[in-house]
Amino acid sequence: NSLTPAREVKTICPYCGVGCGIYLGIRGGEIVSVRGDPESMVNQGKLCVKGRFAYEFINHPQRLKKPLIKKQGKFEEVGWDEALKLIADKFSKYSGNEFASIASAKCTNEENYLLQKFTRGVMESPHIDHCARLCHAPSVVGLSRSIGSGAMSNSIAEIGQAGCIMAIGTNTTVSHPVLALQIIKAVKTGSKLIVINPQKIELAKHADIFLQHNPGSDVALLMAIAKVIVDEGLYNQSFIEERTENFLKLKKSLEILSWDELEHITGVEKEKIRQTAYMYAEGDPSSILYAMGITQHSHGTDNVLAVSNLALLTGNLGRESSGVNPLRGQNNVQGSCDMGTLPNVFPGYQSVEDPEIVEKFQKAWNMHLKPVNGMMLSEIFEKARSGDLKSLYIMGENPLLSEPDIQKVKMALENVEFLVVQDIFLTETARQADVVLPAASFAEKEGTFTNTERRVQRIKKAIIAPGDSKSDWEIISAIAKKMEKSGFDFKSAEEIFSEMTALTPIYGGISYDRLENQGLHWPCLDIDDPGTPILHQNQFNTPSHKGIFHPLEYIPSAEIPDEEYPFILGTGRSLYQYHTGSMTRKVNGLNYIDGEEFLEINPDDASNLNIKGGEWLEISSRRGTIRARSRINPGLLSGCVSMTFHFQEAPANCLTQTARDPVSGTPELKISTVKIRVL
Ligand code: SF4
Repeated sequence: NSLTPAREVKTICPYCGVGCGIYLGIRGGEIVSVRGDPESMVNQGKLCVKGRFAYEFINHPQRLKKPLIKKQGKFEEVGWDEALKLIADKFSKYSGNEFASIASAKCTNEENYLLQKFTRGVMESPHIDHCARLCHAPSVVGLSRSIGSGAMSNSIAEIGQAGCIMAIGTNTTVSHPVLALQIIKAVKTGSKLIVINPQKIELAKHADIFLQHNPGSDVALLMAIAKVIVDEGLYNQSFIEERTENFLKLKKSLEILSWDELEHITGVEKEKIRQTAYMYAEGDPSSILYAMGITQHSHGTDNVLAVSNLALLTGNLGRESSGVNPLRGQNNVQGSCDMGTLPNVFPGYQSVEDPEIVEKFQKAWNMHLKPVNGMMLSEIFEKARSGDLKSLYIMGENPLLSEPDIQKVKMALENVEFLVVQDIFLTETARQADVVLPAASFAEKEGTFTNTERRVQRIKKAIIAPGDSKSDWEIISAIAKKMEKSGFDFKSAEEIFSEMTALTPIYGGISYDRLENQGLHWPCLDIDDPGTPILHQNQFNTPSHKGIFHPLEYIPSAEIPDEEYPFILGTGRSLYQYHTGSMTRKVNGLNYIDGEEFLEINPDDASNLNIKGGEWLEISSRRGTIRARSRINPGLLSGCVSMTFHFQEAPANCLTQTARDPVSGTPELKISTVKIRVL
């Protein structure tokens, strides 16, 4: 049987942030099967449809196999030497503020570490960012301010023992399916489940309480829950006294809230909010899980702080099965943040503005570093559009489908003088490049990923990369060496990992040997440290070591429906596709089940527009117009419509708005106003 593997390699699923352990089956140099790793602490052998079946992209004939240089508007295959020489010549002209790079949440920790070293050290540019800016940047900022760490406070395995699980702004069965199984299993064994979402999602069927609040009203709803907890004495007095600051300020801010107004803003009755507050406060312990329904708003950081307030009020931090747990989207978005592919921090969240830290990295790398914050993703594209940014280096991301208002991104990419993209396929973004470099996939290289629960895990090379493609770390090293820069003479991913751990205290005790079985949770400070599944057990990592309450005010979303654009569009995900589809759209089985974009609409709105389901629609916003067929979704509130962003034929981000959270720079992808015309 050609599908029977001749051998198997243990590695990690390349899709979502859950980071399930898998075995890749290999025959004749190709991946022919995948099965879940029964020993994995994350998934105990279980996999979702993508992890189990979506590996056809690895052997796909459209994989890039040679470097491409655009000559007279057309790509020509060239050898590595020609491509590297051109890049080295151009990059040598565009150092400092004229250069920026975009790292990748799909690439390994080692590759992200190396790209920020290259950007900061070789190009002397502070401008590096990645797609965490589109998802969990508000978690990094908000949770750092309130409890001192922007990562999940607890581990996935603890979910099952929570007395109460609050899942807010997460469509978990779709975006983190194997983790959703843990939630459902917990409910079956006695945990209470609160689901809070503007859409009646699959998980709501398992909930004890489901709150369907108005889109964008999260701060008001979470403050209302906090108000009940404070007014009715449900808070944890000793925890607040011993471990927090600012309680009285929060209390005062809650006193002035009016229930009429809270009910009006949220669309949820007081009594239901009361029941929610009691269930969460009495969970003992209670765990909050959230995702981009919380972060992708023009007030995303406030939403995160409001979540954090609830956990601090009830003492649900620093203990097993409790916590504040942002669920990371892409497989290595936690790791790429950890590796310092953010404009304000070196690896391990060490400030780029701290003179001692800068000196440490300068000395270790033997390079000159600028002690300044770089530009965020949105600012990088704005500078490119204005012509001030001359050169951009993009590793493994496809902003031409994932960024909001993609017409502006297209202009930005057209305006840079020299664009280099490295990827495994000729993506929409790669097509705009001057040079495209062929990269190896996760199955063709060594390295580490860090999943959503801070577990650092090994990925292993199972097959040889196609054609002349190379691992991203080998490509970055080759460019640096062509530019005659030292500090990139690595013979293996492990050597890069060792350099990184020596400079990054939270990874300081981790080595490839120690990751061999189940991986390790950071912080892991030395070789005797068993890792830290539960954060904040003794103190918070804030300057005062206390958890800090933040009084908040409800701020309406940046775009409000009006006569011309009466519907609120929120973008989400499909279980069967991943991110901009560059990998999953190459998988026939997935395309067969779910190969087309739909606009989902509430039955009443559909009836008003004479839509029965399946008609072609024209959907327009102030940014652009696309076409997609209709699908009726009774789970949506009237006035709300929904799309994914997986399909280049109907790119939803043509419609989305660029209003951003002023603190984190994350765009309001959950709320853009649109109008609909039946074709
Ligand atoms: Fe892969 Fe996520 Fe599915 Fe696990 S839940 S198999 S990590 S996509």
